[in-house]
Amino acid sequence: MKRFITCQHCGGRIRKRHDLVTALMIFSVVPYHRKCFSQALMGCQTLVLVNQPINSLMGTVGAVVAALMAFMILLGVAPISGGLRFGATIAIFVMPVARIYSYLTYERELD
Ligand SMILES: [Zn+2]
Repeated sequence: MKRFITCQHCGGRIRKRHDLVTALMIFSVVPYHRKCFSQALMGCQTLVLVNQPINSLMGTVGAVVAALMAFMILLGVAPISGGLRFGATIAIFVMPVARIYSYLTYERELD
C-alpha cells in the first residue's frame, strides 16, 4: 500500500516522484514539493535545511563518495587516527544513510 507523503512546507500531498525533493534538516530527512523546496530555502528554514537535495544526481554521487571516504577512514587508509577517525566516519556516514533512508521512506512510495 502506498503511503500518503506530505510536503514539509505547504502540507499538501506529494503524488509524483519527479515532484519530490528530499532534504536533510538537522538530523532528519524531510519531503518537499519541488517548488516548495526553493521557497523553504528562501525562508527561515534555511537555517536548519541543507540546500543540496538528497534525491538529486549530485546527492546520490555525494553519498557514494562519502561512503567510500568513510570506509577508507575506517580501514585506516586515510591519514586520520584516534578518536577523530571514529568521529569523522560517523559524520561522513550521514550522507549515505540519508540517501538510503530517502529512497526507502519516500521515493519508492511514489510513482
Ligand atoms: Zn509543498
